[in-house]
Amino acid sequence: MSRILRIVSYIGLIALIPAGSVQGQQQPQFATTKVEGTDNVYTFRYQGSLAMFIVTSQGVIATDPIGYGRPEATVTYLAEIRKITNQPIRYVIYSHHHFDHIAGGKPFKDAGARFIAHRRVKERLQILQDPHTIIPDDTVDDRRTIRLGNTVLELIYMGLHHSDSSLVMFLPREKIIFLVDSIPVGSLPGRSMIDSYPLEWEEFLSKITALDWERLIPGHPGAGGRLGTRQDARDILAFLQHASAEVKPLAREGKCWDIVERDLKLPKYAGWQGYENALPLVLRRYCGLWGRGT
Ligand SMILES: [Zn+2]
Repeated sequence: MSRILRIVSYIGLIALIPAGSVQGQQQPQFATTKVEGTDNVYTFRYQGSLAMFIVTSQGVIATDPIGYGRPEATVTYLAEIRKITNQPIRYVIYSHHHFDHIAGGKPFKDAGARFIAHRRVKERLQILQDPHTIIPDDTVDDRRTIRLGNTVLELIYMGLHHSDSSLVMFLPREKIIFLVDSIPVGSLPGRSMIDSYPLEWEEFLSKITALDWERLIPGHPGAGGRLGTRQDARDILAFLQHASAEVKPLAREGKCWDIVERDLKLPKYAGWQGYENALPLVLRRYCGLWGRGT
């Protein structure tokens, strides 16, 4: 082969390699990861959603089925657990009532799991009758302790915040919490504001730092797949307080909804993920609060 021909075929090869592989930026559709420093706590990520499961000698505790609009996610979730253990799936615990985290649980139900959630989840699901979402078998009011094998998992209701049905799942020995949509990891809350209670959310974020945890498994991982920290809780509290304080006087001058949503910027947070798209949704929620009383 002449030198020129060799160069041409080399260029041809480069063209055949998909751009994603060259840049190494495409993440696989799903991933199952043992949480560092634990014996039996895992995360299951499907696209941008995350669930936690715990494998014990007496069975498996799983959380959110994350099958909204993609039943194959839940099928994969169960198959991934099955690669680790043949123990029965004893419980599926819902983080809160939003379908993007809890739809698609049928494969777990068929596997014999008992579904647990806060009382308000059951009340809402009974009204909504979503065909893809399993209604819980048991409910929690303020607190319930699940003991299975050597695992202790506390289910704690700490009032209104991202929703009216959100549970904090606390592993005291591992100092880990699983909590969904209440402490975004390096991003603005955006659509998480729609069903939220902003003032109570601030109170909740003050209370959650009093619990003895070090790591947060969130419903959506941060950049590079990172879990959350106590600093993320403090950061989101500061963000909510800041947004609230900015909107309040404008709302009282009658600038809600349109002027605030279009013109108000919070440049301090421009580096957070999703800033451009999420900011108007944050402002809308505070316009609802300070401009309408809702
Ligand atoms: Zn939610």
